[in-house]
Formats: sequence, C-alpha cells, structure tokens
Amino acid sequence: MQIGFIGLGSMGAAMARNLVKASHDVRAWNRSKVAQDNVPGVILVDRAADAFEADAVFTMLSDDPAIREVILDAGLLASAQPGLIHVVTSTISVAFARELELLHQEAGLGYVSAPVLGRPNVAASGQLNILAAGKADAVAAVQPLLAHLSKKVWMLGEDPARANAAKLACNMMIAMAIEAMAEGVVLTESIGLDRADFFELILGALFSGRAYERYSAQITDRSFEPGFKAKLALKDMRLAIEASNEIGRTLPMLEAVRDGLGKAVSAGLGEKDWSIMADMTVRGGSSVAPSEDESEKKH
Ligand code: NAP
Repeated sequence: MQIGFIGLGSMGAAMARNLVKASHDVRAWNRSKVAQDNVPGVILVDRAADAFEADAVFTMLSDDPAIREVILDAGLLASAQPGLIHVVTSTISVAFARELELLHQEAGLGYVSAPVLGRPNVAASGQLNILAAGKADAVAAVQPLLAHLSKKVWMLGEDPARANAAKLACNMMIAMAIEAMAEGVVLTESIGLDRADFFELILGALFSGRAYERYSAQITDRSFEPGFKAKLALKDMRLAIEASNEIGRTLPMLEAVRDGLGKAVSAGLGEKDWSIMADMTVRGGSSVAPSEDESEKKH
C-alpha cells in the first residue's frame, strides 16, 4: 500500500517514522524543510500533491486553516486517484470534519477522522490512542495502518465528526484537570502544604490516572517544554466552544480554561506546554516561564 503523509511536525514525524518501521512506503511533505535524519526511510517530496498520490494519505497539520490551504485550496481532492482514503489525524473542528466528509464523498474519496490522544513521545513509541470514525469500509482499510501507530484504536462509528467531538471533549477535560490542580495548589500552598505532598494525596486518594500523573509532575517541577503547545490547546478550546455554540449550549468551565490558555498565549507563552496555564494560576496570573537557566539547574 502506498502511503502519503502531510505534516511532519512533532506528531506527524513520529507517526511517519512508525509507518516506515512497519515496512510501508511513505512519501511525505512538510511546508518547511525537514532533516532526513529526523524521518529516516521516509521519502520526502516537494509538493503536497506528490504525497497525495497514494492509496492512503495521513494529514497531521496543525489546524483547520492549514488543512484548508494545503488540501482544499490546492485542489488535491479533485486530482486524487479514485478510492484514495484520507485519514485526518489533526485535531480539527466538528464543522470542518463534516465539510471534509462531504467534499471527499463528492470527489469519490474515502474519509476517516482519526484524531489522536498522546504526546509526541507517545506517538514515537507507537502507543497513541486513536479515535476513529468514518464509513466502515474506509476505516477497515486503514485499520492495519492505525494499529502501527497506536496501542488502541477506538471505533466511534460511521459519522467522522464523532471522533472530532470526542477528541475536543478529551482535551477540554484535560485542560480542566490542569486548572483544577493549579487551583488546589493555590489553596494548599497558601497554608504551607508542599505541592508534591498535595499531589501525592490527590493521586493516591482521589484522581489516579495518566493526565493527573503527568501534569501534576509538570506543575511540581515547573517543567513546561512541549509536549502539547499552549497555542494549539487554545485552538482546541476555541473549537470546543464552537461545537458547544452549535448546539446552543454554554459550558462555563470550558470558557474558563479557554481564557486561561488565552492569557498564557497573550503573555508570549504559546510555544510552551499547555500546563503553563497552571503556573499562571498558581502565580496569580502573571507567570513567566522558568528560564532555561532555572530548568538547567534542576537537571
Ligand atoms: P506542530 O509540531 O506545531 O506541527 C504542525 C504541523 O503543521 C507542521 O508540519 C507545520 O509545518 C504544519 N503547518 C501548520 N500550518 C501550516 C500551513 N499553513 N501550511 C502548511 N503546513 C502547516 O504540531 P503538532 O504538535 O505536531 O500537532 C499537530 C496536530 O496534532 C494538531 O492538530 C494538534 O492539535 C494535534 N495533537 C497534538 C498533540 C501533541 O501533544 N503535540 C497531541 C494530540 C494531537 P511547518 O513544520 O512548516 O511549520
């Protein structure tokens, strides 16, 4: 099976490497130059259209506008070979997933929504959780490829937008957990409880689980290298708010974490891990990321 890959950022490069490790031919395109050493075995092509000449194409671009520009505006659907299946693994809006499904259907192409849970190191170890939705035959055709990238593929039905709604809900809930931990620290540190001791308590007694483990450690260490960039997390909170607006609902906690991430990005911290939002809360809204010197001293 000839595979195309579009978008070799933190996540895409790791995923493309795993497809090559699984002995697939992968032709990949990235907007800016990518070092071949970073994607050994991947065939780097000059145009997105070259990567789109395939049986299955993965897209791991950052957001809706990037996919619109690279895939739709460039007319790649019209020139694609019949039967191609396009797997969009980016975190995109529910509305755009619906639009993409329709446009692929009109062009006679398969479309699978397959957003992922897991950070770049998880992608690198082929242990993502993939939320897959689309027509059963299209999902079945790419399922063996998804298996190389993941520890589990969660099948969420034939409506692709379901996978996107689920992914946005997951990120919304992680952001809320990060903010909840930060607010817990605000209350407990003020009376002298060490934050590591507080997190030992809440992890042991109340909230065991990966998100709490990972982000409590980052908040304790003040370690904010991405990971998942705050600017991308802000994008996801905005997309979740759009999805809630579409159904006429307002979600107050979602708006709070959107605002928290917005402040972090406005403060110039958009390239930091999204858990930087917690640091801002703990420090009364005026956080500065720890300097490189400070984090070097720690290690
Ligand atoms: P990233 O490292 O910032 O990579 C973004 C990719 O999109 C790069 O290949 C970038 O190209 C490309 N891109 C952005 N705008 C473009 C444009 N206008 N035209 C062409 N290419 C464009 O981001 P990432 O962390 O890999 O995230 C990618 C997607 O995965 C996002 O939707 C994110 O929400 C989702 N996600 C991320 C994580 C995570 O922990 N990082 C986890 C799950 C899901 P250049 O290299 O040229 O900039």
